[in-house]
This record gives sequence, structure tokens and C-alpha cells, in this order.
Amino acid sequence: MTPTRTTPRPADPAAPNTPAQASLYQQLRAHLDVLKLNDAAEHLPAVLDAAAAENLSVTAALERLLAIEVDATAARRLAGRLRFACLPTPATLEDFDYDAGSGVDRHLIEDLATGRYLESATNILMIGPPGVGKTHLAVGLARKAAESGYRTYVTTAADLAARCHRAAIEGRWATTMRFYAGPTCLVIDELGYLPLPAEGASALFQVIATRYTKSSTILTTNRPITSWGEVLGDTTVAAALLDRLLHRSVVLDIGGDSYRLRDHHARTHALRAAANHV
Ligand code: ADP
Ligand code: MG
Repeated sequence: MTPTRTTPRPADPAAPNTPAQASLYQQLRAHLDVLKLNDAAEHLPAVLDAAAAENLSVTAALERLLAIEVDATAARRLAGRLRFACLPTPATLEDFDYDAGSGVDRHLIEDLATGRYLESATNILMIGPPGVGKTHLAVGLARKAAESGYRTYVTTAADLAARCHRAAIEGRWATTMRFYAGPTCLVIDELGYLPLPAEGASALFQVIATRYTKSSTILTTNRPITSWGEVLGDTTVAAALLDRLLHRSVVLDIGGDSYRLRDHHARTHALRAAANHV
């Protein structure tokens, strides 16, 4: 009678089957824990299984394990940048409708979407009446910047002024200026909707002046630059601010019908048409 094999093969080909292998495995887990490579640690058994099943080389198995950690780290950093950015709407450049009649140049936006303007600290000024998509485009560009790895922050002119006002009172002016100097891409939305107090105008000027030639600012406004003296309550401050803002800049003059109104008109029209058919 032929003796049957008594050593059972482990069900899991990668499972450590000797005490020495088990201890090696535990050491490897411990290394990953010490290095805080949590995603690699979590996927270690699966990667070892795959390595055994697919007969992977040591290099290939290590690459697969570390790629998991690299991907998870990139996703965490992106989520962090998006959280920090405080994007006020889910708007993306992909869902911007270039045929809506606001005269926005698709090629220009596509070029800006590459983020090249950020490398040369070029500013973007968007001027146009309410509802034409200024905030949409600014938020879309901010999202792209954050996705491309740039530190990004979105605020409004009114919020910036209010925050600087509080900072001045609480003795945090320098810290706050450093905060606004930090992002590679800073969006300041809605200049001109609310009158800025003199102190707010000077805070805005300081932020723009601090960022001048170093990082890009995207500013949106419903007021033509000829009336910025009025908006900022001081023509000298307005001229100095424009000087820095426009020094290296792309100006988008966005016109056309308000998208909000257009939508509203279309809806009203549809409702009227429907009512007439009753
Ligand atoms: P603005 O900042 O110029 O006042 P918004 O960007 O807030 O205008 O646009 C108003 C609304 O209309 C938003 O919901 C925006 O997403 C939408 N919108 C405006 N223009 C477009 C467009 N060309 N394509 C898609 N949505 C648009
Ligand atoms: Mg807006």
C-alpha cells in the first residue's frame, strides 16, 4: 500500500507555514505599522496571496504593495486640498455650457484648466453681469487647481474683508495675511456686490499686493474696472490694486444673457406655452 502524503498543503498559498515565516510576516506587519503605511498593511495578506498565486517576483510584489499606499496617500491629500479649498458649489469646468451665449472662449478656459497660469503667477479677472457663470468658472478652475495638487482657497471679497477686520481687532493681522498669501490659487469672488468699507478695500489691496508676482489670484466682479474707485471707495487704492492685479493677467469679459435669467425665461416660456395649450 502506498503511503498517503500527510503534510497538508496550506489552503492559503501565502500563509506563513513555518514559525520562522510567521515571525517574518509579523515583523513585516510591524514595520508597515511603524511607518504608518496603513493601507499597505491592510492589503499585505491580499498582495502576498496574489504574489504566490501569480508567481510574482519580489520586485513586482513590492511594487504592487507600495502602489496601494501611494494611491491611498494621493487620494487622502486630494481630499484634504478639496476640504481646505472651501469650494462653495459643486460646479466643474466639464459641466460649463459654452453655447449659452456668454461668449466665453472654450479654448482659453481649456488652456487655463491645464494650470499653466499658476506657474507664472498669472491672475485671472472675470468681469460680467450677475448670472453669466463667473462663480461657476472660478470654482471650476479652483477645483482643477486643487486636483492638480495646488493649494487652493475660495472666498468672497466680503468674507475676506470681514475676516481681515476681525484679525485686525484680535491682533492676528500678520497671521491672516500669511494665510491669504499661502494658496497657489486664491479665488476672490463677488467684488462689487457689497460696498467694501475703506478698511476692507485696504485689506484686499494688501492681499493682492502680497501675492503679486508670487501666486495667482482669480477675482470676479460685476463692476467694470472704470468704477472700481467707487467700489473700493478710493481711486488711488483702486489704481494701485488694478496695477498689481493686471500686471500679468488674463481678463475675461463675460457678457451675454444671465444664465439664471435665461433659465427662468425658458421655464416661464415653457409654462406659458403649456398653459396656452390647456
Ligand atoms: P455669476 O457668478 O456670474 O453671477 P454663476 O456662476 O453663479 O453666475 O451662475 C449662476 C448659475 O447658473 C449657477 O448655477 C451656474 O452653475 C449656472 N451657469 C451659469 N452659466 C453657465 C454655463 N455657461 N453653463 C452651465 N451653467 C451655468
Ligand atoms: Mg457669482
